[in-house]
Amino acid sequence: MSDVEPADELIGLVRQLRAQLLRHVMAGGWAAPGGATARPVIVPTEVIVDDIDEAAHPLGGRRTLAQIRADLGDCTRCKLHTTRKSIVFGVGDPNAPLMFVGEAPGEQEDKRGEPFVGPAGELLDKMIEAMGWSRQSVYINNILCCRPPGNRNPQPDEVESCKPFLDARIASIAPRIIVALGRPASNTLLGRDAPISVLRGKFHDRNGVKVMPTFHPAYLLREPDKKRDAWADLKLVMAELARLGITPPGTPRG
Ligand code: URA
Repeated sequence: MSDVEPADELIGLVRQLRAQLLRHVMAGGWAAPGGATARPVIVPTEVIVDDIDEAAHPLGGRRTLAQIRADLGDCTRCKLHTTRKSIVFGVGDPNAPLMFVGEAPGEQEDKRGEPFVGPAGELLDKMIEAMGWSRQSVYINNILCCRPPGNRNPQPDEVESCKPFLDARIASIAPRIIVALGRPASNTLLGRDAPISVLRGKFHDRNGVKVMPTFHPAYLLREPDKKRDAWADLKLVMAELARLGITPPGTPRG
């Protein structure tokens, strides 16, 4: 006899069905799974090793997120403090095996003090749920904690000021996989300067942490045809998590 409570089993099944439907939507389908939409083909994982010389920084060592946030304080390290409304730190599970890194807060995020709560955030939530995870069970943050005026690209001095805090969050959370959303996040994390189309679709090593660059959800809103490629990247992440024996919280044991 199964030792799983019927209610728990039902919750698990509903969660699986929901994730399956979301995966179908991410793959570009609008009808129920099994319809006419072709599935993206999974390309085998390729690991590229990028040599990153992580210079020692004043936040070296593993700290709690609360300590890192306290170090950041009412930050005035770069010019963005003059125009921001909030410092947008990060949200989610402090022990998440899966982290998402975006670029910088936008207007909504600056107003609410939370990353990815605007239209791009709604899509990111769907992508995460399609993978079987949730906003609460992963960790979501950006390379910059403050909004650049008019959502312009982050400037090098701003990235330099904020990167020790991103590095400290990564060291604190110790995720197994980081999904880098868009070109600035990918290049900042990997110490590269390459187009996202070159970086995406394969894992890169960052000091023992696997990084999967993919398209930024704001770009996917403008170019929905690229969702298929993004979904292929996220499927590689799901396959790698499964290979590592990491399942989303609440997944019934098989
Ligand atoms: N875009 C980002 O890169 N980060 C956010 O938090 C919101 C939009």
